[in-house]
Amino acid sequence: MIVVFLGPPGVGKGTQCQRIAAEQGWGVVSTGEILRQAMLAGTPLGISVRQYLDAGRLVPDEPVFSLVEQRLSSVVCRDGCILDGFPRTVQQAQMFDDLLRRTGRRIDATICLCADDVELRRRLLHRATKEGRSDDTPATIDQRLDVYRHQTAPLIRFYREAGSLFEIDGMGTPDQVYQLIQNVLRAVGERDLTSARGE
Ligand code: ADP
Repeated sequence: MIVVFLGPPGVGKGTQCQRIAAEQGWGVVSTGEILRQAMLAGTPLGISVRQYLDAGRLVPDEPVFSLVEQRLSSVVCRDGCILDGFPRTVQQAQMFDDLLRRTGRRIDATICLCADDVELRRRLLHRATKEGRSDDTPATIDQRLDVYRHQTAPLIRFYREAGSLFEIDGMGTPDQVYQLIQNVLRAVGERDLTSARGE
């Protein structure tokens, strides 16, 4: 099963992805997390992407795509994979579709979490005081919300037209949102079982 999580910064994608993956025994490919770890470890990738993360801008497609390609073919993603933070542009979504087609896989569900900007800013500023992420500053937060609106939100339409989109209200508590996601995944699992039986 391949599940893509879409949604603005601060909506809670990371939290939900980790919980679902742990429960289902699936792998998570969180591009933001991988890039942040590379930065902290000071690897060549980390050094080259720092300027983008610190400015709240998107990293060029090529390094992001190659790390997704690597992780997706790794053993942790054998039974299922959740993508958190990728694809982030229509161009990345098209590259991803091509990759999946080449490897005989497809996206089973795209889950879009939504919340209003006031709530997103509040959560991101709160996270800034707790986790100290270098890109959770007020200026960078505004920039990331802007990048989301212009470059990532068009993916909602892209995946709606592809028929894989489920929109979920991310304004509730983490447990409430988790239940909503579980309902969607259950429905998708049943749908896939039915179509596998040829019904
Ligand atoms: P958030 O959703 O809170 O902004 P992420 O952890 O998903 O946080 O991403 C942090 C940063 O990592 C982004 O602002 C961007 O610079 C970079 N990044 C993550 N995923 C991608 C991607 N798919 N393409 C380009 N840049 C990315």
